[in-house]
Amino acid sequence: MSAPFAFDNSFARELEGLYLPWPPTPVRAPRLLWLNAALAEELGLDPAALQGEAGAALFGGNLVPSGATPLAQAYAGHQFGGFSPQLGDGRALLLGEVVDREGRRRDIAFKGSGRTPFARGGDGKAALGPVLREALMGEAMHALGVPTTRALAVVATGEPVHRERELPGAVLTRVAASHLRVGSFEFFAARGQRDELRRLAEYAIARHDAALVGREDRFLGLLEAVARRQARLVAQWMNLGFIHGVMNTDNTTVSGETIDYGPCAFLEAYEPATVFSSIDHGGRYAFGNQPGIACWNLARLAEALLPLLADEPQAALALARPVIDAFPAWFDEAWRAGQRAKLGLAGAQGGDAALADDWLALLQAQQVDFTLAWRALAAAAAGDDAPLGALFVDRDALQAWLERWRARLATEATAPRARAAAMRRASPWIIPRNHRVEQALAAAVDEDDLRAFERLLESLLRPFEDQPGRADLAESAAPELTARYRTFCGT
Ligand code: AMP
Ligand code: MG
Repeated sequence: MSAPFAFDNSFARELEGLYLPWPPTPVRAPRLLWLNAALAEELGLDPAALQGEAGAALFGGNLVPSGATPLAQAYAGHQFGGFSPQLGDGRALLLGEVVDREGRRRDIAFKGSGRTPFARGGDGKAALGPVLREALMGEAMHALGVPTTRALAVVATGEPVHRERELPGAVLTRVAASHLRVGSFEFFAARGQRDELRRLAEYAIARHDAALVGREDRFLGLLEAVARRQARLVAQWMNLGFIHGVMNTDNTTVSGETIDYGPCAFLEAYEPATVFSSIDHGGRYAFGNQPGIACWNLARLAEALLPLLADEPQAALALARPVIDAFPAWFDEAWRAGQRAKLGLAGAQGGDAALADDWLALLQAQQVDFTLAWRALAAAAAGDDAPLGALFVDRDALQAWLERWRARLATEATAPRARAAAMRRASPWIIPRNHRVEQALAAAVDEDDLRAFERLLESLLRPFEDQPGRADLAESAAPELTARYRTFCGT
């Protein structure tokens, strides 16, 4: 196969000394299970040329494509609040970058491609279930309009991976705006490598915030830009009921994309304390904690960048602090704007936050499914209260709230049908429901059958459409099932 990728590897070229060149480990019997043809086209690739054995060899890591410069990135990270000075790509590799059809630079990377010098005790491998999960979740989030890394291909390696039990191994090919993380900066800051830190920051600015290039206050500008992107991102999560599950600083991107779908899951009944991750014993990354954690992670980025902000630590701190202090307001602005869209409001008024808060309190008190409730509210905007009523036990409380909501709607001129249509574009008909995701992954892993995965994915790619024929995928799980549901980091 001739060069499928037109690589242009700025990271490898410009940041020598900040990574380790490292090849993927060949795998025994690669089999291409899934190729994201739409994404391939977006990247300027020919999907037909990537099918079958060619794709298997390429995306399994057995045939390193020409122009690739595989490397393991160094990074550190605060994991559950504690600092790990050296994490890095233990089982991932950056192959290189391509400029896509829209002119955007995208990383092409592997996950599960073998041990690297950063592997510590790990085996360098990934199991098929979590790899498919990342592919599915990433595509679902993308279709929901959330910035995210995406999966280009999934290859089964034909090799076992040893976890709690033996599982089929797989390699994920991941596409990202970049793989720069808060932890990338922490790595060099913790080692006192100021020159490396500066080179990394200049690179991040050129790649993600080109308008700042050459400005004297560019490092502070970078901090603010990352904070604003994260504020918008987490606001989207909160308005969709998405729980990332492992918001460590090494999983917090500079680009503002969602990354690392290990233990993530969506809420069913609305409860801010919801935690699904088996290792999150303290509930640090519970649904309702996510905005605060994002702010905490950005404070770690601010600390790492201090040496670049000013010579005097106190002066640097005085510059960084207002950015971190502003984060909650930036988050709120994005979150409230998203809520107004979901409430069917075109403009902003004084009581809107309270109206939204009281709606959420109502959902929480009656343990109503978050996704179904928002979607049913769109029907109510068009005059049909029945779907909403069916979700509530205490209808009086709902009625009281609906009266306030309708009074607020009456202050705007939007026609009911147009309002309902706009609300349906803000509140999906379908999200990746935990029980349906697990079913699809189990069929793939245990029976080598991808039909459920394909069917679910196909539906998730048009989340804002009513799909009456797919009602089974959109229904909430039994509460007992959700109460018992646990996700695992062990990808
Ligand atoms: P993650 O939980 O995927 O964000 O990974 C956290 C850190 O653990 C990163 O440095 C990973 O490279 C490393 N890691 C996770 N799983 C493995 C594995 N199976 N082999 C080697 N390193 C791993
Ligand atoms: Mg990670």
